[in-house]
Amino acid sequence: EKAMEKGKDYIIYSNNQDTFHKENFKILWDFQKALERKELQIHYQPKINLKTSECEGFEALTRWKHPEKGYISPMVFIPLIENTTLIQDLTKFVIEEAFKKLSIWKCEGIDKSIAVNISSNNMEDDSIILHIENLLKKYDIDIDNFQIEITESAVIKDFDTALSFLNNVRSKGIKVAIDDFGTGYSSLNYLNLLPVDYIKVDHKFAKESLRNVKKTKIIEHIITLSHDLDMKVVVEGVENEDILANMYKMEADFAQGYYFSRPMPEEEMNEWLNSQKNSLAT
Ligand code: C2E
Ligand code: MG
Ligand code: MG
Ligand code: MG
Repeated sequence: EKAMEKGKDYIIYSNNQDTFHKENFKILWDFQKALERKELQIHYQPKINLKTSECEGFEALTRWKHPEKGYISPMVFIPLIENTTLIQDLTKFVIEEAFKKLSIWKCEGIDKSIAVNISSNNMEDDSIILHIENLLKKYDIDIDNFQIEITESAVIKDFDTALSFLNNVRSKGIKVAIDDFGTGYSSLNYLNLLPVDYIKVDHKFAKESLRNVKKTKIIEHIITLSHDLDMKVVVEGVENEDILANMYKMEADFAQGYYFSRPMPEEEMNEWLNSQKNSLAT
């Protein structure tokens, strides 16, 4: 009975197939306002080239500080907005922020990439492609410094849609990464049918490589096969030196993780880049 009372509290709408929490409506509503008021922030996490130890570029990650609830993780709000048109608005916003930064860097002679995460629902029509075409007229950037990341599970969800979307963006010179690889039970042979530049091995493999021999074998296999298929491997979740040493041994190409840096606001990223330049010069 208590459970029912509790249920009554937060379920505002339900039918046979679907229940939706009042809380979720509020999040959607507030997110829309945050987008309109430009209250969302982009944080940038460096991607390190393991051969040169230099930063190749950054991944753009959306940050939302809710006025009452405080910080809300993208793991919470992305799945909610993914089922609405808000995902188009968010993706367009993040892409434009990336283009702005790339055009500033081009003026400053800084040759770094920015990767933006795309949702499966962004691939269903041409609006993201058209947006990119418009931004290319507005900003002077080197397009091969722009990358998109799409999760393995989004690709599996609708392979044909993903294939035509990725072919389209790739034909513009944009680089493509498959994100969270190893969580969606697909094979690399299958993904090789897609035009892909990078495979990002999910962060759970990095951590488990320290104690789980089987997981280590899986990463080794992914890396070898990726290289055979002309794709580079990025390892996510490199949190310490021991994981990094393992990834070197396995000849991963790039690494991302708290060991190098957490995602940073733009100002901090600028300072971080400067400090990298100085430490390489000395
Ligand atoms: P992702 O694309 O796989 O991004 C990597 C996530 O791992 C980020 O979480 C990052 O902060 C976190 N991370 C980085 N280094 C480490 C590490 O060493 N250890 C651990 N444990 N985690 C690390 P974040 O920013 O919370 O984002 C979570 C997910 O939300 C992203 O996963 C991505 O799928 C999605 N996301 C974030 N921003 C956007 C966006 O603008 N658009 C879309 N469509 N999805 C987004
Ligand atoms: Mg990503
Ligand atoms: Mg990932
Ligand atoms: Mg992800």
